[in-house]
Amino acid sequence: MRNRIVAGNWKMNTTITDGVALCKDVLNLSANLPQNVTLVVAPPFTHISEISKALENTRIAVGTQNCAAWEKGAYTGEVSAAMIAACGAKYVIIGHSERREYFNESNETLLAKVNLALKHQLTPIFCCGEKLNERDENRHFNVVKEQIEEVLFRLNGELMQRIVIAYEPVWAIGTGRTATPEQAQEMHAHIRLLLSNHFGNSISQSISILYGGSCKPDNAQDIFSKPDVDGGLIGGASLVANDFIAIAKSFPE
Ligand code: PEP
Repeated sequence: MRNRIVAGNWKMNTTITDGVALCKDVLNLSANLPQNVTLVVAPPFTHISEISKALENTRIAVGTQNCAAWEKGAYTGEVSAAMIAACGAKYVIIGHSERREYFNESNETLLAKVNLALKHQLTPIFCCGEKLNERDENRHFNVVKEQIEEVLFRLNGELMQRIVIAYEPVWAIGTGRTATPEQAQEMHAHIRLLLSNHFGNSISQSISILYGGSCKPDNAQDIFSKPDVDGGLIGGASLVANDFIAIAKSFPE
C-alpha cells in the first residue's frame, strides 16, 4: 500500500510561539490517528529549528515550503536544502503555484531544487496543477504533463521513488472551490499513467499523489476515497489543529 500523507502548508502564517502551540495541539489530537498516516507540517523557515525540536521523536515530520536552487553562496535571502536538513526538516514543498506565479519559478529552477533536496536527503513534495483558463480550454492534462515531464522525467527511477507529488488545481487553492473527487481522481490517474509509461508500473504504483486545493474536513473523505488519491496537501485548514486532524482521519478503512 502506498504511503498515506497529510501535509500542512502553513504559508506565511503564525509567529513562532503560535506555530509551536499549533504543533502541540496537532500532536495531542493525533494520538488515535492510524499509524499508517504520515503527518507533515510545513511552517515558515524561521520556525523550523524550534518546531523540529518540539516534534522530535513524534509521529509528525517537519517540512519547508521552499528551498534555494543553489547549493550555497552569494544568494541573499535564500535558504539552502543543506540548511533545512540541518534544522531537522525531512520534507520540502517544491513548485507550489504561489512560488511559480509570484516568484516566477521555472521548471528548470524547480528541477535544480528537487535535485538539491534529494541530495540532502529531503523528500520533495512536488506540486503541479493547472490554472482555471487552462482547464476551461481543456488543456489541463497537457499542462500537468509538461510540468511533470520537464522536472520529474529528468530524474532516474531510483530518485523518482523518493518524490511525493501534489496535484493542486490553481483554481481550487484558497478559493473554497474544491475539485470534485472525480476531477481529482481523473488527474491523479493521468499522472500515474504518465509515471508508469516513463518509469514503469511498479514505480508508478509506489508514488504517493496528494490532492491540494480547499481540502477541508467536510470534503476530505470523498476525495480520499478515490483509488489514486493518497492524501492531501492542506493550506488553510492546516492552521486549525482540529480540522487538520479531521482531514487526516478521512482515509477509508
Ligand atoms: C495549498 O496552498 O497548498 C492549499 C492547498 O491551500 P488551501 O488548502 O487553502 O486551498
